[in-house]
Amino acid sequence: MRTAMLQPYACSSASSRGRRHAEPQAPTRSDFQRDRDRIVHSTAFRRLVYKTQVFLNHEGDLFRTRLTHSLEVAQLGRSIARTLGLNEDLVEAIALAHDLGHTPFGHAGQDALNECLLAVAPDSGGFEHNLQSLRVVDKLEERYPEHDGLNLCFETREGILKHCSAANARRLEAREPGGVGRRFLERTQPSLEAQLCNLADEIAYNAHDVDDGVRSGLLSLEQLEEVPLFRRFLHEALHRHPALKGRRLLFESIRRMLSEQVYDVLRATGGALDTAGPASVEDVRQSRALVAFSADMAAESVGLKRFLRDNLYRHPQVEDTTGRAKVVIRELFAAYHAEPPAALSTGGDVPRSVADYIAGMTDRFALREHERLTGRRLFD
Ligand code: MG
Repeated sequence: MRTAMLQPYACSSASSRGRRHAEPQAPTRSDFQRDRDRIVHSTAFRRLVYKTQVFLNHEGDLFRTRLTHSLEVAQLGRSIARTLGLNEDLVEAIALAHDLGHTPFGHAGQDALNECLLAVAPDSGGFEHNLQSLRVVDKLEERYPEHDGLNLCFETREGILKHCSAANARRLEAREPGGVGRRFLERTQPSLEAQLCNLADEIAYNAHDVDDGVRSGLLSLEQLEEVPLFRRFLHEALHRHPALKGRRLLFESIRRMLSEQVYDVLRATGGALDTAGPASVEDVRQSRALVAFSADMAAESVGLKRFLRDNLYRHPQVEDTTGRAKVVIRELFAAYHAEPPAALSTGGDVPRSVADYIAGMTDRFALREHERLTGRRLFD
């Protein structure tokens, strides 16, 4: 097992804070490997293949979905983890699970669902996708005779809960004192593996949204040349291969950008670890955030994000799709809330059960249900 190469500041499954329901060790796998395997076998994981990242699932077969995005985050995360001596299995588990709570239709779906839930249940805490990812692995997966959820280790759950509002952190803390909500109240950091997944997520979506944006025809290489971070690698690629154009030029530029971002994280994080000198995971949790880009790369990455926001996420064509997707979610919520489906076990909390039900849907199931319930088809 790779644990022999782990640095003292890495999480090790041998010193995990454990599972909520005690279980005997597996004979051949570490606890984090086991978490990863449980996630891969979960229903929510299989649904990621039919969930939108930016483009709706039916708009094209080659765009990223939540599944391919999660695999790319795992690839980037593992590759960085191995070099830093962090726990690759834990990184893989967190990366593969990080988007399990996403609604259909990407962020548009989440925003609409949050509004619907708060409108009928103002004290519910609303809908947050990170919290929902945790809810999926803690409660909604129904696979074990002894307990709800997948019963994952604390460290995996800590990584899955990337962000959380203070109000929802207090709710978590009330249910699980000293658990994964605590750090949002104490404002401490999660493990390096969790920090890494957060950054790998950002690296992955910036790069693949550039790729999908150009593939969709909504972005052009000429526009991208205005973005300092991308321009640098575009020029590098052209300098090295003057005749390169089209998709190969795009790929070569993205490939160089991804590599440089990974090297930048390795350098900056290596430096931060040397300075802070954490000797344990607890030191990491009490320290400032240690996994990071250099200041220059962080600024350039913000520039690329801003460009994607202004030119892709707010592109009229994307906004049109987003607007219609929100109508689908709102009308589904209204219909189910008025008359909960027979299959839905509400456990007395109808608004939350309806939100769970809708959040679990794939894009195409949501569209089919919407058409069945309203007789209207909002997408072709
Ligand atoms: Mg993500």
